Amino acid sequence: MISFSDFYKADEFVFSVEIFPPKTPEGIAKVFDELQQIRELKPAFVSVTYGAMGNTRELTEDLAIAIHKKMDIPTAFHFTCVGAGREEIKKYVQHLAAEGVQLVVALRGDLPKGQNAFDTPADGFCYANELVEYLKSVHPFSMAVAGYPEKHIEAESFADDLLNLKRKVEAGADIVLTQLFYNNDCYYDFVERARKIGITVPIIPGILPIVNLKQVEKITTLCGATLPKDLHQNLINNENDSDAIKKIGEEFALEQCLDLVKHGVPGIHFYSMNKTDTIKRIVTEIKN
Ligand code: FAD
Repeated sequence: MISFSDFYKADEFVFSVEIFPPKTPEGIAKVFDELQQIRELKPAFVSVTYGAMGNTRELTEDLAIAIHKKMDIPTAFHFTCVGAGREEIKKYVQHLAAEGVQLVVALRGDLPKGQNAFDTPADGFCYANELVEYLKSVHPFSMAVAGYPEKHIEAESFADDLLNLKRKVEAGADIVLTQLFYNNDCYYDFVERARKIGITVPIIPGILPIVNLKQVEKITTLCGATLPKDLHQNLINNENDSDAIKKIGEEFALEQCLDLVKHGVPGIHFYSMNKTDTIKRIVTEIKN
């Protein structure tokens, strides 16, 4: 059985790539082109997101299976607690398992806009730890769960959030993939605090190289990650020059990754937004 934890035993630099499922055949073809570009650098795995509100259910399923079969890259599917009860979940994940996709990023899912409490589906789950426990009972999946170096936006406190992370790991998660961050000290502090309360699994930093100012402002606002003031100002100063924004984003991400590697991280998970050129340059630089 394939397990997320096996990837982090390698001697060389380990990285993985998250993509989202496009809605059109052209978009999907483009994803395969992008993955083809990065494949030679041997990503440990590719993960395929599950749309907010579960609205890419079939797209996620089809794309994860297609990548697994055509690209010969270990593939993970994201799955959330949104909108499905036990029987529906079971059918969905058993199909993926039967097609050979045995890695899952198990999540609760985001709250819809304007809602301040999670709408637990009938006969479904309210928190990711419950989903992890259930998925384990259905099939011996290897699972990753989400961790938040700057605290989950709904959590009462950092300490509570860490205890909730521990529940997910104790329910059976093999690794933690972190929310994106732009301040490495937040990640180092998070790992230290997690270790202190007995979370021992690999905690993989999540990095989103910035390519667009409005996009990163929106994402960081939604997920509660901090954009360092100097970086933000530099992006604002170059707002109308997309090449300059990309260069700033790439240089910042490279510095961030080099520092993470220097600190001995087990690997890096890249949020690709379905573009791999920047990731390819960063990984090449690290590997050299
Ligand atoms: P949980 O771990 O369930 O936590 C949610 C909140 O409840 C937290 O504040 C936590 O502290 C608290 N909590 C947890 N367990 C308990 C408990 N037992 N009792 C009381 N409180 C508890 N979203 C998508 O829709 N699709 C995706 O594909 C997707 N991929 C992601 C990938 C990564 C690596 C990350 C970091 C996030 C991703 N998200 C995705 C976003 C994620 O769904 C949201 O951040 C969501 O708001 C929380 O998900 P979770 O799994 O961390 O939830």
